[in-house]
Amino acid sequence: MGYPRLEIAESKIRLNCEYLTNFCSRQGIAIMGITKGVSALLPVVKAMLRGGIEKLGDSRMKNIRALKEAEIGVPVYLIRIPMLSELEEVVYWSEGSFNSEVDVMQALAHKAKLYNKTHKVILLVDVGDLREGILPEDVSKTVGQILDFPALELEGLGTNVGCYGGVLPSPENIRILFDLAQEIEKRYGIRLKTLSGGNTATLSLLEKSNLGQGINQLRLGEAILLGTDATNHRAVPGTSMDTMRLKAEVIEVKWKPSYPIGKIGRDAFGNIPVIEDRGEMRRAIVALGRQDCRIEGLTPVDQSMEIIGGSSDHLLLDVTRCADIGIGSLVEFKVTYAAMLSLSTSSYVEKAMV
Ligand SMILES: *Cc1c(COP(=O)(O)O)cnc(C)c1O
Repeated sequence: MGYPRLEIAESKIRLNCEYLTNFCSRQGIAIMGITKGVSALLPVVKAMLRGGIEKLGDSRMKNIRALKEAEIGVPVYLIRIPMLSELEEVVYWSEGSFNSEVDVMQALAHKAKLYNKTHKVILLVDVGDLREGILPEDVSKTVGQILDFPALELEGLGTNVGCYGGVLPSPENIRILFDLAQEIEKRYGIRLKTLSGGNTATLSLLEKSNLGQGINQLRLGEAILLGTDATNHRAVPGTSMDTMRLKAEVIEVKWKPSYPIGKIGRDAFGNIPVIEDRGEMRRAIVALGRQDCRIEGLTPVDQSMEIIGGSSDHLLLDVTRCADIGIGSLVEFKVTYAAMLSLSTSSYVEKAMV
């Protein structure tokens, strides 16, 4: 196997799932394991299932289809609201989807009928993050419309915060979901099985108090895969953060000035570089670039080296204080969610379970 290589610790992903499923189930909450962060890489998904996850969600139909073709054996939901052009795939491969547009749900119902299926719908409510979802005042009316589509089963309501607007989960915005659910159950005489209360960022509320209020599902990706919570800028208690490492290979090591020589224009990405003159330094080039990775999301494990920049295919390191780094050395990095996402997607990056 070659480099760059993303090494993923099977046992740590599994233990994170075991811990989080226990922690959440004590409050009556089931976890939907979100697989998009690793492009639904099969061995990672299997580790999640071994750790007690019983339901999966992904934002991409390609990932969901691959999981189903691999006979993953658990329900998989499409968590990004579907494109009109993919509805056939959606009803064929997934048990349910998250939705916010009546026109899409009508078309979804039509496709589901063609395939003789009942498709589950979680109606997304926007409680303030202003990404996807129906505004609270429109929810009840929309539910009435959904109930007219017999091929759809309205499984429940869901909400998402902390993704676009960076709005933090709070007892107040969770409460909106609960109140709406009560109103709907009363008005239409139905029971909503699922109240999907958020993502990794919502775990912090659970730690402080009982989320209660009928919320019975969290959709967790980051906490499982990395043990971090980027929205609240913290580690998730009880989980391991050492789940994956990137290894990349050094292809050049030379003493060079730190300030470029010549007139400075724009870099390969159209930005004007801001470079500090720190005198001569020992610089290493690693065979990895922006085509593979959001390099701002990498941290060298060896704290005596520093990332000084990168382009499409090259990552530059200051290794003045690392005498042992030479050509062919492997450099290890910790990754953020954004870096993991890009590394998983790049076909140039090998993935290995360790
Ligand atoms: C990505 C995503 C999640 C998972 O978020 P994490 O922060 O990784 O736990 C949950 N819900 C939706 C709709 C998502 O798109």
